[in-house]
Amino acid sequence: MSDKWLEIACDIPADYSEILAAYLTELSGSGVCMENIDVDAFSHSEIVHSAIVSIKAYFNSEVGINEHLAAINNFLIQLSEEHPDLIISKPVLSEVRSEDWSNSWKVNFKPLRVGKKLLIVPSWEEANQQPDDIVLHLDPGMAFGTGGHETTRLCLELLEKIMDELPTGKNASVLDLGTGSGILAMAAVKLGAKPVHAVDIDPLAIEVAKENLAINLMANDVECSTTPLESMTTDFDIILANILAEELVRLAPQIINRLASDGKLVLSGILAEKEEFVRNGFALQPVEFIETRSDGEWVALLFSKGDK
Ligand code: SAH
Repeated sequence: MSDKWLEIACDIPADYSEILAAYLTELSGSGVCMENIDVDAFSHSEIVHSAIVSIKAYFNSEVGINEHLAAINNFLIQLSEEHPDLIISKPVLSEVRSEDWSNSWKVNFKPLRVGKKLLIVPSWEEANQQPDDIVLHLDPGMAFGTGGHETTRLCLELLEKIMDELPTGKNASVLDLGTGSGILAMAAVKLGAKPVHAVDIDPLAIEVAKENLAINLMANDVECSTTPLESMTTDFDIILANILAEELVRLAPQIINRLASDGKLVLSGILAEKEEFVRNGFALQPVEFIETRSDGEWVALLFSKGDK
């Protein structure tokens, strides 16, 4: 492979980003990078809903690059003829050094191993899986949860531990509170949980979660909704909540209400300096603290509920 990469960048309104990304993925034969979508943003309010998305495709040879550029141009012109409201701009060709290339999307989007068995693979890549791997294909879209964030990984690790320690033959139901991309709900299904319910206050996240479930042929395995926790009536054996410290403490009574006897609760999205605040927030609840896991500046907490 050559050291030099060529980048073709196209700015397009977000509504048309998926169709263009799909076209560029096919044309380049590799992944594309959507620059204005900040998949690392954590909280709901930080998710950027940008009107214009810059989609970048990468090629590692100059051979045929002008033809690619012309083909992309034609594709955009045709798209704008089909959609008169679409204003297009010309694709821009530039050179990137291989370090820039690896820093941009290779690092952020490469397949990721989490815990003992989970392998998270960007939806456009092939999985290089071992026989025991549990593979999840993921397109982060505009929702949080690629598995790259510490808070997600900590949840996945604790979930794997809980599922491993379940008595043989015991069935566990799961609530993924604040599902984002759907990653935790999908992992729960793959690890054997049933039924699994994924909720999010953001309808866009629920859309992305549904797309990811479809990619993984799991559309019937997870119930997705925007139902607020306060309105839910079913109890769950496991609740996963990767939200943020303040919101977790605010929701503490409702979360515990939905946790079945002997149920396990994973709280994540907590900066280490907020651990005490969250533990205090759950101190009056009928749950026993089991452990803290940490990664960088983040921690996740595991609790177990006594008999009701
Ligand atoms: N579960 C994913 C995504 C976490 S991001 C992961 O672990 O990677 C946090 C998500 O929680 C966001 O999608 C946000 O919209 C959602 N959220 C925030 N407060 C919520 C609440 N009170 N009820 C349900 N979802 C909430």
